[in-house]
Amino acid sequence: MNFPATRAEALARLDAFLPLAGRAYAANRNKDAGPGAQGSTSGLSPAIRRRLLSEAEVAGRVQRAHGFVAGEKFIQEVCWRTYWVGWLEQRPQLWARYAADVERLESALAENKALARRHAEAVAGATGIDCFDAWAQELVATGWLHNHARMNFASIWIFTLQLPWQLGAAFFYTHLLDACPASNTLSWRWVAGLQTVGKHYLARPDIIRANSGGRFDVRAPLARDAAPLPADGMPQLVPLRAAERAEPGLRTGLFVTTADLSLERQPLPKLVAVAATTRIGGAPSPLKRAYAETALADGLARAAAHAGVEPERLDEEAAVAAVRGWAARHGLAQVVTGEAAVGPVADRLEALRAGLAADGVRLVRLRRDWDALAWPMATKGFFGFKAGLPRLLAAD
Ligand SMILES: Cc1cc2nc3c(=O)[nH]c(=O)nc-3n(C[C@H](O)[C@H](O)[C@H](O)COP(=O)(O)OP(=O)(O)OC[C@H]3O[C@@H](n4cnc5c(N)ncnc54)[C@H](O)[C@@H]3O)c2cc1C
Repeated sequence: MNFPATRAEALARLDAFLPLAGRAYAANRNKDAGPGAQGSTSGLSPAIRRRLLSEAEVAGRVQRAHGFVAGEKFIQEVCWRTYWVGWLEQRPQLWARYAADVERLESALAENKALARRHAEAVAGATGIDCFDAWAQELVATGWLHNHARMNFASIWIFTLQLPWQLGAAFFYTHLLDACPASNTLSWRWVAGLQTVGKHYLARPDIIRANSGGRFDVRAPLARDAAPLPADGMPQLVPLRAAERAEPGLRTGLFVTTADLSLERQPLPKLVAVAATTRIGGAPSPLKRAYAETALADGLARAAAHAGVEPERLDEEAAVAAVRGWAARHGLAQVVTGEAAVGPVADRLEALRAGLAADGVRLVRLRRDWDALAWPMATKGFFGFKAGLPRLLAAD
């Protein structure tokens, strides 16, 4: 499967997948015939993650094509992403804790040779567990894994190989084209039994064989009776940050990030300048960096065309200083940008807010209506959240 990196390509993929997004998806979505095979799922996650397409438009198209009942399974999966994002938004401490754990565990690898060897075998796909090794290599080679592969890979990593879940999540985060702080971290926690306390996911050879089109024997023994990881303490719910609004009449520029790459479809004030930094952030694999670069260039070009101005790329090394310089050059009083949920982009936006404020310029993070409605519903389990889906879809 290749992954659409521009909005035009993502719309074409959605069109092509639409006939399969109803009952066929519900019946076949767990089947993973492997890289290069005709997919049973859309392959849209890298595009949705960066909002080349929004959840609202994808779910809306499927509902219109199939109706809610036949389209429900696909719509629900799209909404799992919204749910995870809204949930983490209200427990940002978990992301901070995960990031600190990864740093600590990566240092531990330098000192603990046995752990380092087991970790190196896992990420190289050299454990002797056929399915796991193939998935590790597929992830590095393509930047993507089917959901079924992700669940079983994570389970084998945690319970059979007994490696720290945080290092597995970090391996995914480096390579996945769709790497999402919420979906990735919380799915790993769910497999480990930390998210729904006491409930974990144990990989089973018969299920892996059945869902992988006969590609794997799975003869190596997998952990069968492992207990969930011990609870690590759920942080307190933090109230959502208030949504921010652009002030009309101010001289305004648009700053584009990879958090939202179809901003021109949102209500925007009149724009006099549109820019992005070349900085992608983190330590992504070359494939993930290249994907994000193409998507960012596409989103920036569309936003600039919408505003009728030239797109500007700002200096990567001095991100905050470069944006301040850009705002000063255009005499901006306000910079609007897409909302970024908990993660590296949100952290950089807060650093930018402080820098711009020193020059008397406001930063406004524009939250989409979909998020504004959905996030407050993501306080408990998905089943409660799911009950609100018809309301969410009707509001779009
Ligand atoms: C351990 C683990 C880590 C994961 N990490 C990520 C991640 O970093 N980013 C990410 O977008 N998804 C993640 N997922 C969820 C899921 O595996 C992918 O979204 C899905 O495989 C993408 O393929 P697709 O686009 O063909 O999905 P489709 O089946 O076509 O679904 C349509 C869309 O719904 C969303 N979606 C589907 N399944 C899920 C799910 N279980 N949870 C959340 N959203 C979902 C995606 O945006 C997807 O594009 C993870 C799952 C697991 C088990």
